[in-house]
Amino acid sequence: MLGRLFSFALFQVVGAAFGWWFCRSFMPVSAPTLAPMLLSALVSSYFWQVLDVALGMRVLRWLSSGDTLQTQVGFGLWGEISDRVRRLARSRERAVQQRDGRFQDFLAAMQASPNGVVLLDDDLRIEWFNQSAQSHFGLEGTRDLFQHFGNLVRDPGFAAYLATGDFKSDVLMPGRASTAAKPVRLSVHMHPYGDGRRLLLSRDVTAVEQAEAMRRDFVANVSHEIRTPLTVLSGFVETLQSLSLTEQERVRYLDLMAQQAERMQSLVSDLLTLSRLEGSPLPSAQEWVPMAPLFEHCRQEVTELSRVLWGQPQQLYFEIAPDIAVAGSSTELHSAMLNLIGNAVRYTPEGKNIYVRWQAQADGGAVFAVRDEGVGIAPEHIPRLTERFYRVDRSRSRETGGTGLGLAIVKHVSQRHGAELSIASTPGQGSTFTVRFPASRVRLPAEPVSAPTSVPVSAAA
Ligand code: ADP
Repeated sequence: MLGRLFSFALFQVVGAAFGWWFCRSFMPVSAPTLAPMLLSALVSSYFWQVLDVALGMRVLRWLSSGDTLQTQVGFGLWGEISDRVRRLARSRERAVQQRDGRFQDFLAAMQASPNGVVLLDDDLRIEWFNQSAQSHFGLEGTRDLFQHFGNLVRDPGFAAYLATGDFKSDVLMPGRASTAAKPVRLSVHMHPYGDGRRLLLSRDVTAVEQAEAMRRDFVANVSHEIRTPLTVLSGFVETLQSLSLTEQERVRYLDLMAQQAERMQSLVSDLLTLSRLEGSPLPSAQEWVPMAPLFEHCRQEVTELSRVLWGQPQQLYFEIAPDIAVAGSSTELHSAMLNLIGNAVRYTPEGKNIYVRWQAQADGGAVFAVRDEGVGIAPEHIPRLTERFYRVDRSRSRETGGTGLGLAIVKHVSQRHGAELSIASTPGQGSTFTVRFPASRVRLPAEPVSAPTSVPVSAAA
């Protein structure tokens, strides 16, 4: 402000000095000098004001040009004003950019959400949606923006939910990609916010629902499996308590009771094995299990099983490559082997052959295969065989001491060792169960593997 006053005064002093100089130079010496000096000072002050207004106009033009961020105009007071405006505009611009950046981050986070998010206006028209909502409801980019949500999602359950206007809880509905073979279930919840607007959240609950259904089935199956032998047992106990039996009858009843107790024991033991497989850390990749002794152990066990089950025993052929080790748990591997070879014994009629093979593969892996000449399995059952309690022939499974959990255990053990279980079968001709171990889990002998020895082992032997 002082500068401005000073410049104004300076203009007048310079004007007066000019008037004096003009009088002295161009007028007679006797002529008065005061009036021209005053006049000249007045003209200078007008000139100063015109200059000031011109500068002010320039600043006004600059303000309305919108280019306040880059340049600065004028000097003095006007220069100062334009500089402050420029600084203010810059700090505002920075604040807007920061807000914009935060908003973009927020939108990116909403896009990355595994849950569907749809923003609806007060008339339920779509304002924004993320990618998950796009796949949940089959929405499409700009095509569905500003469309009424109820017109695009026409599930009756959801329509009723919208109609009631009671959004305290969620509603379950099928997803857009849901088919009978591959159902998709969504939980959809509407949350009112702002001025009549709605936030719609969707969550894929297919896995949760399937797990819940599996849990229910599992509890029902276990209860059923245990209830049957328990009922039989309590029936025998009642008989023993209420009737006077001959010694022969008593021994027979006690035998039958022992069978039922054994059945419950195998069931509990298989259930415990499964729960250990699910709950324990993956088997070590550093602990090497030599497989040949495990096969030898299994051979003795299934030979005994075959002798107990069948009057005329089966022929068991073991072709076991020596010195191949697998990284993992020997207990789990033994359990998987025993289940597969045991099944072959149980589902193959007497007098038929069973072939067990363990050999290295060209890729450095190894294969364990059990082939039988038994009853075989119809193709429609094969994909479901590893489900818990799934049985093709219920009575045969029970008669031979099956629990319906054997192949579920084999599948778990295979997965935990990075191996793959495959099943091939022809009804009436037999089945082959194959477990392929990857090279990363297999240690082959340093020498080239010698041809496996084929040893027919008669169960009767
Ligand atoms: P289970 O204890 O009933 O044998 P598993 O899980 O071991 O239960 O097998 C599931 C079902 O698969 C069996 O009930 C049986 O019907 C069928 N199965 C398994 N192995 C064989 C086989 N080698 N030959 C024919 N059917 C088999």
